[in-house]
Amino acid sequence: MIRIRLGKRKYVGNGGEKTPLHPFLVRQLTGWDPTMTEQDVYDAARGWWKLSERAEREQYAVIVGDGVVRMVVQIGEWATNGDRRGFAGILLQPGQPIHDALIGSDDPAPTTSRNPVAYFRHELEAGICRCGCNEPVPSGDWVQGHDQRALHQLVNDDFGGSVSRFLDWYEELPAAED
Ligand SMILES: [Zn+2]
Repeated sequence: MIRIRLGKRKYVGNGGEKTPLHPFLVRQLTGWDPTMTEQDVYDAARGWWKLSERAEREQYAVIVGDGVVRMVVQIGEWATNGDRRGFAGILLQPGQPIHDALIGSDDPAPTTSRNPVAYFRHELEAGICRCGCNEPVPSGDWVQGHDQRALHQLVNDDFGGSVSRFLDWYEELPAAED
């Protein structure tokens, strides 16, 4: 799942976007506050985010406002705008297990990073291969061999297919804070 953390509500109008106007996503507001309608929150959450191709293998976007899950979107389609990606989908409703497990709960992917986007695996996703192929797995996270495929896909998508570049990037990551 992708967690998207919304900041404070801000009016952007149609022209206030950092990204070029694009019919896939026209919105008036970014961020979150309790006065926003469901449609406002949905549009704010969609945004044009800096996401790699990896994002397109995720099936759910979990929208966090003020530290609490406000909305879960089952992602149906993607669009790109410059170097950014946007999604559209349908809102999960009460009675659906993932909705009921997440709505109102704390940020499921708490990080100290300023990046509003984080990835996490929810227990209700167990049983389905993580690579996005949707094949069932009796135990673990991957259909046999699909973990290798996912790793190579990431290197291809984000590192121009160069394992060396991937390793160099990994070595330079700051150590996680305690
Ligand atoms: Zn798979």
